[in-house]
Amino acid sequence: MKNLETKLRENIKSLKPYISGKTIAEVKAIYQPAQISKLASNENRLGFSKLVKDSVLKALDGIHDYPDPLALQLRRELARRYGVDEKEILLGAGSESLISIICRTFFQDHENAITADATFVGFFLQAGVRVIEVKKVPVTNEYKFDVLKILNKVNESTKMVYIANPNNPTGTYLNQKEYDYLLSGLPDDVLLIVDEAYFEYAQPVTDYPNALANRRENVIVLRTFSKAYGLAGFRIGYAVADEILIREMTKTKLTFEPATPAQAAALASLQDEEFINRSVGMVEKGKERLYDFFDLQGVKYVKSAANSVLMVLESDQQAEIFTQNMLAEGVILRHVNVFGLPHCVRITIGTEREMNHFEESFLTTHQLLFLNNED
Ligand SMILES: *Cc1c(COP(=O)(O)O)cnc(C)c1O
Repeated sequence: MKNLETKLRENIKSLKPYISGKTIAEVKAIYQPAQISKLASNENRLGFSKLVKDSVLKALDGIHDYPDPLALQLRRELARRYGVDEKEILLGAGSESLISIICRTFFQDHENAITADATFVGFFLQAGVRVIEVKKVPVTNEYKFDVLKILNKVNESTKMVYIANPNNPTGTYLNQKEYDYLLSGLPDDVLLIVDEAYFEYAQPVTDYPNALANRRENVIVLRTFSKAYGLAGFRIGYAVADEILIREMTKTKLTFEPATPAQAAALASLQDEEFINRSVGMVEKGKERLYDFFDLQGVKYVKSAANSVLMVLESDQQAEIFTQNMLAEGVILRHVNVFGLPHCVRITIGTEREMNHFEESFLTTHQLLFLNNED
C-alpha cells in the first residue's frame, strides 16, 4: 500500500472527508435522551408530502429497468410550472451532484471560481475534487455575500461565481437590487451559479429576487427536492440554464441519475402545494419565535430567509461546547466550523415540539456554558 499511497492524487489526499451531523441512532445510543430533535441538517421536520409513497411504490414495479436518463416527465412538469423550455432543465442526483457536474463540465486548467468564505460546504468539496482554485471573499458584517468585493475579484481566469441565495449556513439573502448589481457587473463569459436550495422558504420575503424571472445566458439556477419538499434521502434536484449549457452538462452527468423512485417522488411532491405552504408557514412561525427567545436571552443571531437560523457565539470553543451540551440533551445542532464560521451554530427550524425541546435544553445548557466562562 505504501508505494501506491505515494502515488495518490495530492488534491484528494488533502481533502477532509465530509462529517455530517450525528444521526438519531447515534445520539440515542450515546446519550439516551428522553427526546431527540434533529435540527442539524436543514431537512423538513414535517416530513414529506402524503402523495409521495404511492407514487414511489408504483415506480418500484419498473425497478428492473434503467431510469429515464432525461427524466422526461418530470422535466416537462417543471418546464410547465416555471415557464421555461424542457431543454433548459437538467435533473441530477441532488444539487450537490449538479455542482459536481458544473465543475467537471466547464472548468479548464487554471480557471478559478469566486464565492464567499462562509457558504455551502458541498461547493468547496466538489471544487476541491477538480483542483479548482476557489477565491473566498469574506462575508459582510451582516453575514451576506459581499457583491462589490466579489466583482472586484473577477479576472480573465474567472470561470464562475457561486452564490447560494438564501445562503447556507448564514440564512442571509441577496435582495433584488444586490442581485441585479451582481448580474450586471459580471462579464457575460463568467457563469453565475445561483443555488436556490431554500427558494420555497424565501417566498415570503418581498425583495427576494426570482432568478428564473431574471434570466441571462450565463446564469445557472439550482433547485433541490431535498429541503422544503422533504426528499433529501432520494437525492434529486435540477438545474435551469441556457439550452447550450444544459446540453454540455448532460454529457458529463452520470447517465442514469436520478434514480426512478426519486423521479417519481419528485413528480408527486410537486402536486402538493398545501404541504409546501404548511412547511413554509411552520418555518416562518418557528423563526419569529426563535428570534424572540434569543432577544430575551441576549443571544446574537442572524435573521434568515431559509429554514435555519445562525446563532453567533463568543468564540469557536463556546460554539463547540454549546453544540456538545445540546447534543447531550438530545438536540442535534450543526457547529458550522467546516462552513467557515467556527464561532457559529446553525439551528434548523423544526416543529413546535422540537422548538420547545430546543428552548428547554438551551436554558439548561446555556447556564452551564456561562458558568464555564466565569472560571
Ligand atoms: C442543502 C443544500 C443543498 C442541497 O443539496 P442536495 O444535494 O440537493 O441535497 C444545496 N445547496 C445548498 C446551499 C444547501 O444548503
